Amino acid sequence: MFKFKDPQLANRIIDELRKMNLNIRLMHACGTHQDTLIKSGLNSVFEKLGVEIRQGPGCPICVTPANEIEEAITLAEHGLTLTVFGDAMRVTGFSKSLYDARAEGCDVRIVYSIGDAVKIAEENPGKNVVFLAIGFETTAPATASTLIHGVPENFYILSSHRYFPPALDTLLSLGEIRLDGLIQPGHVSVITGLSPYYALLKKYNIPQVIAGFEPLDMLLAVYSLSKQIIACSPKVENEYTRAVTDEGNLLAKEYMTKVFEPYDVVWRGFPVIKSSGMRLRKAFKDKDARIVFADFLKDVDTQHYEEPKGCRCNEILRGLVDSFDCPLFGNKCTPEHPVGPCMVSVEGNCNINYRYTGGKKLKI
Ligand code: SF4
Ligand code: SF4
Repeated sequence: MFKFKDPQLANRIIDELRKMNLNIRLMHACGTHQDTLIKSGLNSVFEKLGVEIRQGPGCPICVTPANEIEEAITLAEHGLTLTVFGDAMRVTGFSKSLYDARAEGCDVRIVYSIGDAVKIAEENPGKNVVFLAIGFETTAPATASTLIHGVPENFYILSSHRYFPPALDTLLSLGEIRLDGLIQPGHVSVITGLSPYYALLKKYNIPQVIAGFEPLDMLLAVYSLSKQIIACSPKVENEYTRAVTDEGNLLAKEYMTKVFEPYDVVWRGFPVIKSSGMRLRKAFKDKDARIVFADFLKDVDTQHYEEPKGCRCNEILRGLVDSFDCPLFGNKCTPEHPVGPCMVSVEGNCNINYRYTGGKKLKI
């Protein structure tokens, strides 16, 4: 049974949900929401209440396509020092991962922040150091602020940052899956504020709630969405007011605008998503690894790449299937031997499901 800080309130909400006689499908787009759902056992509770919840494109590592990982590997193979978050080490590019590249002698180092990467550049003035910058609005402000405040001459950014709201827009426009409501991610919303969600409301008339990461937050979010759905009155509600304001983090947004410009980019599992990539602006072109080391990278985009045979990550990221629908889940694909990125990243749907269920669907 799941644990709550306020079990009475939780049970009252569950009773209310039961009375609603629901048959709805919701989507969240956040690794931590999925972690909360599975770890607390809430997903089984919701299923019994007629609420199905899918995880969408919520993990920045999972949605980074193979060619961007391959770019990082290629730079490392050309003798550059590559700095990267640990989670990205095991995702494969066209045929190997950054771990493999390191085992072959490349200088690839795990960092915990962009600050660590800058320090490596400062301590190694004779080397060119590249930081593989992955993440949505949650991590991009740190990249932007670091560049604004000045970095060593031998430090470069390979930007894989992405704006999150355009992915939801694309997902809804594809119309591949019926969704009755969206649970919006807490951390991203701290930066963006509510305006992107109002734009989605206007375009798709879909109920939305911004939720925090406790089980009670998820319960409240589902309750609010259910009320909106039953009343046929879609809104944007903020259940995470302890962290998210209407306007978001203005300074972080200012930094991002100063440093990045949007461009059309592929996400794993999606077609090109318009204006969803964060590219360094011209003012920072001498820090942009794609420009400075263009010669090394010119062959990457012309190579043909195929996803691992049988892997359903592409469909998982669009919410079409769950990990348990993948024939490789729990046998050929485990966190120790991941086949696809959704099993590599700790925020990936398959990794979370495997960690808490050992690969077996819990009976409800
Ligand atoms: S960065 Fe935060 S909001 Fe975004 S997916 Fe990860 S945990 Fe969720
Ligand atoms: S179980 Fe593995 S192979 Fe299947 S979708 Fe998940 S990550 Fe991909």
